[in-house]
Amino acid sequence: MTQQLTIALSKGRILTETLPLLAAADILPAEDIFSSRKLIFDTNHDNIKLLVIRATDVPTYVEYGGADMGVAGKDVLMEHGGQGLYEPLDLEISRCRLMVAGLKGAAPVDGRLRVASKFVNITREYYARLGAQVDIIKLYGAMELAPIMGLADRIVDIVDTGNTLRANGLEPLEHIADISSRLVVGQPSMKMKYELIQPILEQMQAAVIAKREV
Ligand code: AMP
Repeated sequence: MTQQLTIALSKGRILTETLPLLAAADILPAEDIFSSRKLIFDTNHDNIKLLVIRATDVPTYVEYGGADMGVAGKDVLMEHGGQGLYEPLDLEISRCRLMVAGLKGAAPVDGRLRVASKFVNITREYYARLGAQVDIIKLYGAMELAPIMGLADRIVDIVDTGNTLRANGLEPLEHIADISSRLVVGQPSMKMKYELIQPILEQMQAAVIAKREV
């Protein structure tokens, strides 16, 4: 029997940049993903399906075998912890930086820093490495609002152009990590489906390298 392969894709901005790399490995969705509300898509291969899900769910699907492989930002992978996953390929797309930011020109903070973020694990590890005791406040979005409203002294967030920070009177203060999207493969899938997965990895890697040279 032909082996089946399921690839979990992060919806949103990453998806637009992922599809050409999948196309380079001759994996094409059978219909237009962007004009559909479906979650599972057939492809030009009977045995390959695409899932289009929230970025934060991609590592979880791959970890538990709900998908064999996936594409997710390094921010999401760092926050997840990466257990059960191989990360064989940096797709070099959706680049941004994970930064600490605060109100522009704010006075130094006395006592424990209050840091708001949706990346609570990354934030905890970052300040633990610095040996700093901080209070972490979990938010699900619009982190920029927290310092403005006095909810937090700092935020840990994704910065691309810096426009969102500037528009809200914030400034980047510390760089935590450079981020790009990665291809991840579940550890059991890599073993059991190596012959199916390996050529896809090679073709996607070739496309990443070719794009670099444009
Ligand atoms: P910017 O205003 O260009 O610095 O973009 C910042 C906002 O866009 C952040 O709050 C993020 O939510 C989002 N963003 C920008 N780039 C990315 C990316 N590569 N991955 C995920 N979110 C991003």
